[in-house]
Amino acid sequence: MTAPIRENLSGLDLRAEIDRLRKERNAVILAHYYQKPEIQDLADFVGDSLELSRKAADTDADVIAFCGVKFMAETAKILSPEKIVILPDMDAGCSLEDSCPPEQFKRFREAHPDHIALTYINCSAAVKALSDVIVTSSSAETIISQIPESQPIIFGPDRHLGGYLNRKFGREMLLWPGVCIVHEAFSETELIKLKAQHPGAPVAAHPECPPHIVDHADYVGSTSGILQFAKSFPGDTLIVATEPHIIHQMELALPEKTFIGAPGADGNCNCNICPYMALNTMEKLYIALRDLEPRIEMEEGLRLAARKSLDRMLEMASGTIGKGDLGQR
Ligand code: SF4
Repeated sequence: MTAPIRENLSGLDLRAEIDRLRKERNAVILAHYYQKPEIQDLADFVGDSLELSRKAADTDADVIAFCGVKFMAETAKILSPEKIVILPDMDAGCSLEDSCPPEQFKRFREAHPDHIALTYINCSAAVKALSDVIVTSSSAETIISQIPESQPIIFGPDRHLGGYLNRKFGREMLLWPGVCIVHEAFSETELIKLKAQHPGAPVAAHPECPPHIVDHADYVGSTSGILQFAKSFPGDTLIVATEPHIIHQMELALPEKTFIGAPGADGNCNCNICPYMALNTMEKLYIALRDLEPRIEMEEGLRLAARKSLDRMLEMASGTIGKGDLGQR
């Protein structure tokens, strides 16, 4: 459990204080689409994992306040080691990262020496260091299409994203058995009922959803892809099967349309709100900017090893690496 805040901040205008500290610290606040609306609204940039990685690599700020989960803040540190990277709550983890301990992943790799490791960014720095190429949900298709079909691949840690890519690209990647607890919780039965209540409303789903949810989707893509779909679909109602805080950006962009979060098992639960993302609060962000803690620290050898697979992602996602450049580790 995360440590409670022990000081009384009730008299503070947190928004104003965060603005003041952001300027004093020359800090940039990066927020994932799954953050609470009040954090999205004050962030300098809101995006998906790939967009936030690019921002972290390019920023000239001295401090990166990362409102997301730990593997994302670690990625910012790997890409911008000279920056101070703070995460409002160091307990903001991820079920996918937890599913993939580095020692077990190393043994898995060693059991399949002819395979390269294509690894979803939702993993620890140590697993990134054991991987050949990192992917995000928005870069995975671009990257996999650059890997020769004859090249065997291990894909981890999300078996649903890996399975989706296997089906879409006719690959037979070996899949690590991890899942996102948030996307795993959507109910097919409740989704079918919701579709019946809103005939004609398309479903947009994240590929971390299991196949029985993806099979009902009219659009499957990353959070930024889903957002683009929301801005372009011709109807007036969209059913959204990913973490529901992304709906905030949809409502800001298209207030005249209706966006409905896909339901969990009892049709009305909060089980699709990411409990890790929810650990970040305005209070914790204020304290992190004030104290420059909790701070991401990383041993340099690990950082450099993890950086290789991240650099490959950034190059392949922008098409600046050739097929021949992708060797095994
Ligand atoms: S939504 Fe899922 S994949 Fe994303 S941080 Fe939460 S547990 Fe991890």
